[in-house]
Amino acid sequence: MPENKVKKYFNLIECWAWCDICSDMVNIRVDKKEIANGLKMGLYTKEHKHINPHPDLEDTDDVSGQEHTVYVYINEDFDVTGVKSFFGDAPSITEVGVKTIEEEGEVRIPIVVKEIQPMSVQLGMLTLDEFKLLKACDGMNSLEECAQIAQKPVNDVEDMLDNLRDKGLVKIIKRTNQ
Ligand SMILES: [Zn+2]
Repeated sequence: MPENKVKKYFNLIECWAWCDICSDMVNIRVDKKEIANGLKMGLYTKEHKHINPHPDLEDTDDVSGQEHTVYVYINEDFDVTGVKSFFGDAPSITEVGVKTIEEEGEVRIPIVVKEIQPMSVQLGMLTLDEFKLLKACDGMNSLEECAQIAQKPVNDVEDMLDNLRDKGLVKIIKRTNQ
């Protein structure tokens, strides 16, 4: 899979992010102000709906000509830290503990269950790291992907999620990987 690329300009960035559904790079421009505003809330995610303009018409399994979405995660240095492609709403299912051992083909998905106010950090209810991590727990990312997006080791993220789960802020579901 090719590397995601970013060109940084004065007012905007242009990025090429890998879409698993298109099996191609999608090109997205984002205003730096929009990113800075988003980062005030923790993590910035660009949501980009698109269709593949050049689907493989010979391939009946190629569904990239139907509208789908990529989430592109961008950090304070305007670099892409993660990309997620999906159709519609993600299917969810069984709730499990943070440190549940995954069976083959299974992933743990942390999901925020309560709205988190940025004020929680100022009030000392959450650390900034916890707040950033929760932003990645949008139901699209596996625990490992959340760790990657938050730029933390998986073990640390498991401990943080355990704590957040005790506070009733997040739940973990187990999903079969497609
Ligand atoms: Zn795509």
